Amino acid sequence: MDCIFCAIVAGAAPAAVVYEDDDTLAFMDINPVSQGHVLVVTKEHYRNLYDVDPDAAAAVMRTTVHVARAVRAALQPDGMNLFQSNERAAFQSVFHFHVHIIPRWIGDELRLPPRVQRVEFSVLRGIAARIREHLY
Ligand code: 5GP
Ligand code: ZN
Repeated sequence: MDCIFCAIVAGAAPAAVVYEDDDTLAFMDINPVSQGHVLVVTKEHYRNLYDVDPDAAAAVMRTTVHVARAVRAALQPDGMNLFQSNERAAFQSVFHFHVHIIPRWIGDELRLPPRVQRVEFSVLRGIAARIREHLY
C-alpha cells in the first residue's frame, strides 16, 4: 500500500488510535509538534481539499470537534490550532486528506514549519489513552 494513512486505516501499519467511527479515524501524529498532536483522517482515500467528498470532510470536522475537546480535557493546553495542508507549497507531505489538532501552550514557540522529533509508540499510546478517557 503506497499511502501510509490508508495503511493505518486498514490496520496494516501501526498507530496510536484515539477515536474511530464509520467515516473517520483519529490517531497520534508520529512526529508531534506539541504533546497531544492528533491527526483526523477520512477512511476513504482523498488526496486533499480539492477532491475530498464534502460529506467526508464534514465527518472529519465532526470528529475533530469531538476529539479536540477530549485533548483539552486530558492535557489542559492554553490553546489549540487546527491545521490542514493542501499540496507541497502548503506543507502537505502525506497526500491523504487530514486535519491536524495541535495543542498550544503559552511560550511554546512553535513556528512554521515546526521542528519535530520522533516519539515512540509507547509514549504516544499513553497520551492516546489519556485523551480516550475524555471521549463521551
Ligand atoms: P502534512 O504535512 O501532510 O499536513 O502532515 C502529515 C503528517 O503526518 C505529519 O505531521 C507527519 O508527522 C505525520 N505522519 C507521517 N507519517 C506518519 C505515520 O506513519 N504515522 C503517523 N501517526 N503520522 C505520520
Ligand atoms: Zn490514503
